Amino acid sequence: MERGWQWMMVAQRLDGKECAADLEVDLLARISACSVTPHLAVIIVGEDAASQVYVANKIKTCQRLGILSTHISLARDSSEDELRKIITELNHDDSIHGILVQSPLPAHMDEDGLTELISPAKDVDGFHPINLGRLVQGRTDGLLPCTPAGVMRILAFYGIEISGKKALVIGRSRIVGMPMAILLASRGADATVTIAHSRTQDLIGICNDADIIVAAVGSAGMVTADMVKKGAIVIDVGINRVDDESQDRGWRLAGDIDPNVAEVAAYLTPVPGGIGPMTIAMLMANTVTAAECQHS
Ligand code: NDP
Repeated sequence: MERGWQWMMVAQRLDGKECAADLEVDLLARISACSVTPHLAVIIVGEDAASQVYVANKIKTCQRLGILSTHISLARDSSEDELRKIITELNHDDSIHGILVQSPLPAHMDEDGLTELISPAKDVDGFHPINLGRLVQGRTDGLLPCTPAGVMRILAFYGIEISGKKALVIGRSRIVGMPMAILLASRGADATVTIAHSRTQDLIGICNDADIIVAAVGSAGMVTADMVKKGAIVIDVGINRVDDESQDRGWRLAGDIDPNVAEVAAYLTPVPGGIGPMTIAMLMANTVTAAECQHS
């Protein structure tokens, strides 16, 4: 018992709000030096409550930084052609520098096809095949997917060395897991990366061997303390709503990492207040980069 207490750690909290605020200072300087005011267009289809909150937060952050924003709201039963027409118009509008289509789209729309329709120069989500292709080529100075880029930024902000470390990314989605793995393995970052997914066998064993764990699954508390090596760096991308009667609204947000992991990890991002704010900050950074590139 006493021995157990000796090596119990309390992980340092990696504060996404603090890191995002630091990035915003850089962005304000770049915005004032830019020959044009960056302008982001956000399109939302339908009334999904979580998506409405995400879009409102993005627009609020634009306002705080002096980035122009245009919010386009379409009814859930709008046709894909209608959305295609709007994206095409925005592609040709020189006053718009970034275009974001809020995910998820209704099932009758082809999300991948619509992503490809956005001009790569205005693809501030970083999901266009050209931007993802550049990332695969090792070019990490373009429009990168916001969440993985936010993870890299917070690691750098806290001076966490990742070169040569064994990193595990749990989740292989196009928007988080895959680009995350590529960024961690890229030259300069130099981690040795394993990707886990729903068919992975012995996830516990693989987790226990990892120096860095990035969880992007969408399953509350799935990574528990017994799965984590002492002193690991643990990044929680997951955002899950869990029932909580102690809250007036009856629910709270929880990550994919069980809070008890703080007792074994050296570093841990909270949910909320970790990678969420970083994702929005990186979207702002992509919008500024897009405006700079279109007006250089
Ligand atoms: P997806 O549903 O697209 O992908 C989830 C991934 O998790 C899949 O690759 C899936 O594997 C894998 N998975 C599912 N079950 C298991 C399991 N038991 N063991 C290992 N892997 C498993 O989700 P996203 O990538 O879009 O999002 C992941 C989470 O991150 C969500 O909670 C989302 O809300 C959150 N998120 C947070 C953001 C932020 O700003 N903080 C931004 C974006 C997302 P398979 O491929 O085999 O199905």
